[in-house]
Amino acid sequence: MSQAILECNCPDLKLVSRGKVRELYDIDDESLLFVATDRLSAYDVIMKNGIPGKGKILTQMSVFWFNLLKDVMKTHLITANIDEMPACVQKYRDQLEGRSMLVKKLSILPIEAIVRGYITGSGWAEYKRKGTVCDIPLPKELKESQKLPEPLFTPSTKAEYGEHDENIHPSKVAGIIGEKYAKQMEENALKVYKAALAHAEKKGIIIADTKFEFGTNKDGEMVLADEVLTPDSSRFWPADNYEVGRGQDSYDKQYVRDYLTSINFDKKTPIELPQDIIDKTVQKYIEAYTRLTGTAPQL
Ligand code: ATP
Ligand code: MG
Repeated sequence: MSQAILECNCPDLKLVSRGKVRELYDIDDESLLFVATDRLSAYDVIMKNGIPGKGKILTQMSVFWFNLLKDVMKTHLITANIDEMPACVQKYRDQLEGRSMLVKKLSILPIEAIVRGYITGSGWAEYKRKGTVCDIPLPKELKESQKLPEPLFTPSTKAEYGEHDENIHPSKVAGIIGEKYAKQMEENALKVYKAALAHAEKKGIIIADTKFEFGTNKDGEMVLADEVLTPDSSRFWPADNYEVGRGQDSYDKQYVRDYLTSINFDKKTPIELPQDIIDKTVQKYIEAYTRLTGTAPQL
């Protein structure tokens, strides 16, 4: 396999943001280019070496979902085929092919639209303290990782760089983006999650929870944006190891987290991951993609 791409070098494209994993380029008034690098973050720390092919696998997974979901709602994907992209993008084919999506430029609504189908993570922590998630009361005596009676919309605010997102009660969303979009966002988030979960469960993968971003286009319509339903934005659990009453290993980070625990990782200083951890992690991403889509990723 080829080397990990940690950072793109496309001087003729206008870089608008560089997140922990993705790079975003401005193409024209209508469109943006979303590029997934092979960077790996764990505990919000970007590791020194990347996972070769991860960005391609995650992009192709997002594209798979966008295609599957296009009957459920409008999505921002224009194309992931580099031959259909402008010449300024094709010029950097070596770096960008297979890891890029050309998307419609939207006005992003400032809410992280989280949906939880299973109780885990910060949801489980709040439930143990107060019997609620996002202040929504839940049935008594739920166990860790248990499937919820119904998927829950548990939004959070989109924090500025370096700050933490804050969970809010769904009724507070209207005060931020208005009543009409708040209602549509909750409906869309639940609808998209349910459609994806139904597909994934048939393939032996549980999507315990996920985060969507929505934007609005010039006509004021709500559109599904960002990346969707990848291990970076969701908790994927292999269904065959699932057991209520304990934490589950996430699909992709299992080996990385075990390794980081074994070396007493301080959760702040980037480190170099050993080759066998990288190899096993690549295999996990390939396995998740292949299980979900029924085909191997193009690397
Ligand atoms: P991280 O995900 O690493 O925590 P981040 O969210 O700031 O950081 P990225 O996810 O790499 O960084 O950046 C993607 C940015 O693009 C996000 O701010 C997201 O809201 C925005 N975005 C997604 N889709 C669109 C779109 N169609 N139009 C405009 N902006 C978009
Ligand atoms: Mg992001």
